[in-house]
Amino acid sequence: MAAQPETPQPTGFLTVVDYAARLVEVQQRVNQAVNEAGREPGSVRVLLATKTQPAALVRQVVELPEAAGMLRGENRVQELVAKGPDLAQLSIPTHLIGPLQSNKINAALRWVCGVESVASLDLAEALAKRVEPGRVLEVMVQVNVSAEPTKHGVAPGQALTLAAQVAVLPGLRLTGFMTIGANSAEEKVVRAGYAELAAIRNQAQTAGLGERLELSMGMSNDLEWAIAEGATIVRVGTAVFGPRAVQV
Ligand SMILES: *Cc1c(COP(=O)(O)O)cnc(C)c1O
Repeated sequence: MAAQPETPQPTGFLTVVDYAARLVEVQQRVNQAVNEAGREPGSVRVLLATKTQPAALVRQVVELPEAAGMLRGENRVQELVAKGPDLAQLSIPTHLIGPLQSNKINAALRWVCGVESVASLDLAEALAKRVEPGRVLEVMVQVNVSAEPTKHGVAPGQALTLAAQVAVLPGLRLTGFMTIGANSAEEKVVRAGYAELAAIRNQAQTAGLGERLELSMGMSNDLEWAIAEGATIVRVGTAVFGPRAVQV
């Protein structure tokens, strides 16, 4: 008797059920890390980093009930703007998580409720000028805790000063601090950077710059370490959408 042909494995295409399962998996990782850190249940939100994913897929995934309570982030303004019209009425908020040039502010502001990547007073002032009257833009100060030259963000020593300046600008609300962790597989090295951001956040709160300021840190590979150091938002791409074809 001839051998049965093997069932072909799906190549590349995931069904919406697969995405729902991945969202559940990520949420379970978060819940477990929160629990292990002895932190309050529900104290960490997941931001879905949707770069390179087409708008139609993004919509399908973020509108799943499993994504309720999560956020969405785009790191390239060009892509944020290109997908904007197709994703205008999402049920979860969108943040910009990448660098913003001042000539793209108006375009970007149409599609986000928050910018996590403010790393200069110039940008903060330009944002404050462009925010429509009556609207409040949520702003985080991005800090380069690893001091890697390729990374965007202010030096840790300048973070509090910038946060204090942002906090008093009209139209902006300082909501916290963001960082991209060190490019290292060493837990000690990565966590030291996250601990540094947490210390900055604590100083900012002590200085009266805000209550419950967020710590946006940790990605697919290291969200547990970030949560152990106090992350309140973890930004996850690969763990939900799979490896990206193009490096961005
Ligand atoms: C892409 C991206 C992420 C998510 O990274 P993954 O490793 O895919 O989870 C988080 N933060 C920023 C700023 C990103 O650009």
